[in-house]
Amino acid sequence: MPVQPQGRDSGQSTETTAVSADAAAPPFPDADLMYIADLLPAGERQRYLDTREFLQSRVRAQSIDYWNREEFPFGLLAELGKRGLGGLQTDGTSKLFKGLMYVEVARADVSLSALVGIHNELIVGMINELGSDEQKRRWLPGLTAFTQLGAFALTEPEHGSDIAGGLATTARLENGEWVISGAKRWIGAGTIADFALVWARDVADQQIKGFIVETDRPGYAATKIANKIGLRIMQNADIVLQDVRIPEANLLPGATDFSKANELLRDSRAWVGWQGAGIQLAAFDVARSYSLQRKQFGKELASFQLVQQQLAEILGNASASLALMVQLARIQEDGKLEMAQAAMAKATTTRLARASVAMGRSLLGGNGISSDFEMGKLFGDAEILYTYEGSYEINSLIVARAVTGKSAFV
Ligand SMILES: Cc1cc2nc3c(=O)[nH]c(=O)nc-3n(C[C@H](O)[C@H](O)[C@H](O)COP(=O)(O)OP(=O)(O)OC[C@H]3O[C@@H](n4cnc5c(N)ncnc54)[C@H](O)[C@@H]3O)c2cc1C
Repeated sequence: MPVQPQGRDSGQSTETTAVSADAAAPPFPDADLMYIADLLPAGERQRYLDTREFLQSRVRAQSIDYWNREEFPFGLLAELGKRGLGGLQTDGTSKLFKGLMYVEVARADVSLSALVGIHNELIVGMINELGSDEQKRRWLPGLTAFTQLGAFALTEPEHGSDIAGGLATTARLENGEWVISGAKRWIGAGTIADFALVWARDVADQQIKGFIVETDRPGYAATKIANKIGLRIMQNADIVLQDVRIPEANLLPGATDFSKANELLRDSRAWVGWQGAGIQLAAFDVARSYSLQRKQFGKELASFQLVQQQLAEILGNASASLALMVQLARIQEDGKLEMAQAAMAKATTTRLARASVAMGRSLLGGNGISSDFEMGKLFGDAEILYTYEGSYEINSLIVARAVTGKSAFV
C-alpha cells in the first residue's frame, strides 16, 4: 500500500508517536530515549502527556491545510486556550514544563508554536513584568485565555539585526498623548491582533520605549506578508504607523529604556531553542513513520543501514538539543540565565534542526518535497527558526563576544 500523506484525508487522529500500526512496537515508541519527561514533577508530567496527546491528535494533521493556504486556524487557537497554553508565563509552572510545552507545540506545528511562544514570552511576559496595574487588569485575562492577541513589533523594514542601535520609529508626547510614527516589518499576528506592542524611540530622550497600540487606532495599517517558505500559518505583517495617537498611559512603565525588554528577549531566545528541539522530534516522528511504511527493493526503508544511520542522527540531534535546553531551564530557574547562554542554545538547536530536517527531507525522497507529507513543511519552518529572534550569525557573535571579550558586530 502506498504511503498516505498526513494532510487532506486526515480527519483521522494521528498517533502521538506516528509509528505505523503494523510495525513491531519499538522499545522507545515516544522517542524520549533520555527520559527527559521523567524530570517533570508528577502533576506537570500528566498535564504534559495529556497536552502532547491533544496536540498530536487534534492539531498536527489539521495544521497542514492551514499551512498550505497560509490561513490562521482560530478554532485551534481557542482549543489551545482551553488547555492553558495562553497562560504558561503566569501559571506558576516550572521553566522545564513551559519549555517542554513549547517542544510539543512545535512537534505538532511550528507556526502555532511561534504564536504560543511570542504570546507567552513577549506579550504576556512584557505586560506582566513591565506593564502598569491598569494594563495588567485590562489585558492579561483575555490574553491568558487566548481570547485576545498581541503582536510584538520591534523589527523594521530598514533595521533587523541592528535594531537596537538603528530603530527609527518615533514616539512624541503631545498634549497628554503619544504620537507614534514609523514602519515595522515581519510582525507576527500583526493583521489579527487586538494590539501591537510597538517599540519606538522617544524623540525627547532618544530612549527606545514600549507602547501598547490598539490595532483599531486611526493611522495603524497592517498588510499580510504572503508567499513565505515557512511558518505559513503565522500571519506576519508589514505595519505602517502614521501619526498614531494613543493615551499617555499606553506606555509600559517598565519599558522606558531597552534594558528591561532585553531581559525578556533573552528568555524568548531560549524559547526558540525549545522550538529547535521540537521541530527535530517532529522530523524524527515523520521520518520514522515513513521509513517503516515505504518499501523499496522489497523491504521497508527503515531496514536499510543508511536510512537507519539518518534516523539515529536526527534523534541524536534532537536529544542533544533537548539536553542542552534542560540545563538551560535549570539555569533559568535559578535566575542565572544570561544572553550568551540563551544565544548559544538558540543558535545550536536551530543549526541542528536545519541539519535534521535536511536529512529528513531526503529520507522521504520525492514525497519529502510535498508539504502534504509534513517533512516539506518542517523543512521550510526550520529556516524561520534559524533566522528570527536574532539570525544564526548574530547569536553566534553574541556567544563569541562572551568568550573572547571582543565584539565583531561592526
Ligand atoms: C517569519 C518571520 C517572523 C518574524 N517575526 C517577528 C516578529 O513577530 N516581531 C519582530 O519584531 N520581528 C520578527 N521577525 C524579524 C526577525 O527577527 C528578523 O528577520 C531577524 O532579526 C533578521 O533581521 P533581517 O531580516 O532584517 O536581516 P538582516 O539584519 O538584514 O541580516 C541579513 C543577513 O546578514 C547577516 N548579518 C547582519 N549583520 C551582521 C553582522 N554584523 N555580522 C555578520 N552577519 C550579519 C544576518 O545574519 C543575515 O544572515 C520575523 C522574521 C521572520 C522571517
